[in-house]
Amino acid sequence: MRLILLGPPGAGKGTQAEFIVDQFQVPHISTGDIFRKNIKEGTDLGLRAKSFIDQGALVPDSLVVEIVEARLQEADCENGFLLDGFPRTEYQAVELDKVLEKSGVSLTAVINIKVNPELLVSRAVGRRICRSCGATYHVKNNPPLKDGVCDKCDGELYQRSDDVEETVANRINIYVNETSPLIHYYEERGKLVNIDGEQDIKVVSADIVKALRG
Ligand code: ADP
Ligand code: ADP
Ligand code: ZN
Repeated sequence: MRLILLGPPGAGKGTQAEFIVDQFQVPHISTGDIFRKNIKEGTDLGLRAKSFIDQGALVPDSLVVEIVEARLQEADCENGFLLDGFPRTEYQAVELDKVLEKSGVSLTAVINIKVNPELLVSRAVGRRICRSCGATYHVKNNPPLKDGVCDKCDGELYQRSDDVEETVANRINIYVNETSPLIHYYEERGKLVNIDGEQDIKVVSADIVKALRG
């Protein structure tokens, strides 16, 4: 399966990615996770991306495309992958098409998780992430059993520095202007699968499986 998860910040892409990689045994490629790891490790890529991410702006296309192209060439992507947070612009989508075409493969589906904007800010602001394994929680919607501690690995939960109200609002605007045109892009190519992301997390997961297994 060669999959893309599309949806605004806070839609539930990361949450559903954890589930999809489990079900379909494909590697999870989150450009946001790759940037955060590089920022933490102080790499050159991290330094170049940090100021954009802190403002809630998009990292320049050239930087992002290069990373994804290299990642897709790794052996574990041979039989499939799940892209989460990429592509985010039409330029990135066109470049991805070129990369796939070069390898003689095509996308299986683009899962578009739909959530109304009013819900997104509280979802992102209440988000907590495990420092050790990356699992995603929500202080109200999906709390861990023990406050601040990951259920899966006992790791420490933290709040992303860009998950503050003003930055989230900025990210949502950017999604509407720059990323949402991709809905039409993939619809035209017959790849789009729409999923109602306002349902319970488990119901959303079930709908995704139903759509992919047919
Ligand atoms: P994204 O990767 O699209 O930004 P996440 O998967 O990180 O979104 O989810 C954002 C926040 O919303 C997290 O705190 C997550 O626990 C919560 N969340 C995800 N899906 C749902 C859902 N269906 N209902 C309620 N809360 C959800
Ligand atoms: P969310 O889960 O809220 O959708 P991500 O973790 O996917 O956020 O991304 C966090 C930030 O990383 C974005 O706000 C943006 O600055 C940067 N980023 C991630 N993916 C891309 C991309 N494909 N193109 C440009 N910037 C990106
Ligand atoms: Zn964990």
